[in-house]
Amino acid sequence: MKPADQFEIAQITDATLEKYNRPGPRYTSYPTAPVWKDDFGPDDLESFYARAETAASPLSLYMHIPFCESLCLFCACNVSIQKDKKVAIPYLDALKREIEHVSQRVSKNRPVIQFHWGGGTPTYLTPAQMEDLFGHARQRFSFTPDAEIGIEIDPRVTNRAHLETLRRLGFNRLSMGIQDFQPKVQETIHRVQPYELTRDLIIAARDLGFESLNVDLIYGLPYQTAASFKDTIDKTLTLAPDRVAMFSYAHVPWLKKQQGSFAEHLPEGMEKFRIFRAGLERFLGAGYLYIGMDHFARPGDELAVAQTNRTLHRNFQGYTTKAGADLYGMGVSAISSIGAAYAQNRREVPAYQEAIGTRGIATMRGYRLSADDLLRRAVIGRLLCHTVIPKHEIQREFSINFDEYFAPELQRLEQARDEGLVILDSKEIRVTSLGRIFIRNVAMAFDRYLHEQQMDHRPLFSKTL
Ligand code: SF4
Repeated sequence: MKPADQFEIAQITDATLEKYNRPGPRYTSYPTAPVWKDDFGPDDLESFYARAETAASPLSLYMHIPFCESLCLFCACNVSIQKDKKVAIPYLDALKREIEHVSQRVSKNRPVIQFHWGGGTPTYLTPAQMEDLFGHARQRFSFTPDAEIGIEIDPRVTNRAHLETLRRLGFNRLSMGIQDFQPKVQETIHRVQPYELTRDLIIAARDLGFESLNVDLIYGLPYQTAASFKDTIDKTLTLAPDRVAMFSYAHVPWLKKQQGSFAEHLPEGMEKFRIFRAGLERFLGAGYLYIGMDHFARPGDELAVAQTNRTLHRNFQGYTTKAGADLYGMGVSAISSIGAAYAQNRREVPAYQEAIGTRGIATMRGYRLSADDLLRRAVIGRLLCHTVIPKHEIQREFSINFDEYFAPELQRLEQARDEGLVILDSKEIRVTSLGRIFIRNVAMAFDRYLHEQQMDHRPLFSKTL
């Protein structure tokens, strides 16, 4: 892995940022969610459930718990702010009903290799509620002994009893939101979370034997500076997480109005880039490997090994080592990726509960991938995970002539090549260390829908850096 100075970040000028730091997807799916269609409903998802039984791929299950006790102002997730925890009772009833519905359509021979709880705040639930929900799913699916079982936790609402319950149930991975340790930043984003609180929870998690600990940071938050972010990272390094996700703050006030409250205090352009650079340098300097886009891992971590072995994959939760699994998402707004289809559940809790109550399924929209979509998904996936596209692999898998099929895309990449972001040759497309910083932009060259979306003039995505 290249050290920080070889990332050629010194070459990045205002002009480079001007050119590449523009709105673009994070490609947790291709095609991206704005392309999905409202005419994809429950019957369509049922047909993909049935088809998936023929392929019999392993399973990745996702449960969405949408509730949070208070709103973090930067948050762009689909959340429901509820002080009264009684709301969880009917929600969990509906979720369990959906689990039952899905499990009746999935053979017990299909192993669950990944089970993930996200939100919202899954530890909004009491330990007893978590145990009940976990047991309900566990009885209905066949988990492999080494299944990756993870949960997102908010240290502000997670106590030792939560952790003890999770560990006893078999959870082995924790992902913890930090975002930033500076008090001024925390106050502005309405997420006050002292360092000591996070530290003590991590000590407790290690004590209980959780195998892997991820923390989330965000660069580009209001009042952040490169110096203040270095301090946040130095504190984070004392916690020695196995993995770090360092996300770019996504400013989408047309979707999340509350983000407008601090818009004038956001670091922009080169200043935001300096913050990113501070993070990159600090983590690489501390021996972490840059997995891609926004992820770092310690050498030896499964993600780092998967990247070396070219078995890394990308899904709605970011990077994963579990390739080839069908993702069954359950809960409000949850997304499934099954065979050649994506499907998303209803986004509001009452509508979700009503739909589940009526027929056990709550699909709101989705997408059937065409042959071209599947091909481009494979190309973009290789770029984001391995930073190289060996043309012969794609040609063999999709029976095409790469250079002919992608002639316009290759032409589009010539400018990126001239600026040192990619190396184009007859055998492969290889992203340089400089190009890794702008990898979303490189991937965008292969997105056939982006041009139409840009023509639409509706803001859809946050900026790429
Ligand atoms: S706790 Fe997490 S999901 Fe909830 S509002 Fe804050 S960032 Fe968003």
